[in-house]
Amino acid sequence: MNFCEGCNIAVNGERCPRCGRKKLRAVNDEDFCLIAQVDRALGDCLKGHLETEKIDCVLIPYGTGVRAQFALPLESYLLYARYKNADHVRQLLKEWNS
Ligand SMILES: [Zn+2]
Repeated sequence: MNFCEGCNIAVNGERCPRCGRKKLRAVNDEDFCLIAQVDRALGDCLKGHLETEKIDCVLIPYGTGVRAQFALPLESYLLYARYKNADHVRQLLKEWNS
């Protein structure tokens, strides 16, 4: 598995599917990888849950430029977690979404 430092995603191949970059390095267990885009409520819940499991995650507010311009609360987060925890976090998301 490789890692794109531009997009912070783990890439299964030689080329990043997001930005097209080819200079990828091998992914490291500690790398923060983009897991998913989640809505605010789910993101806050998930973060609380992961904290109790002592799993690091990062939520980056994500929304349209217009909303940001008017300082309205952004609607969603981009969720990042360490590569070693990525599968676990994806699994949780799946369970919580169903
Ligand atoms: Zn990329």
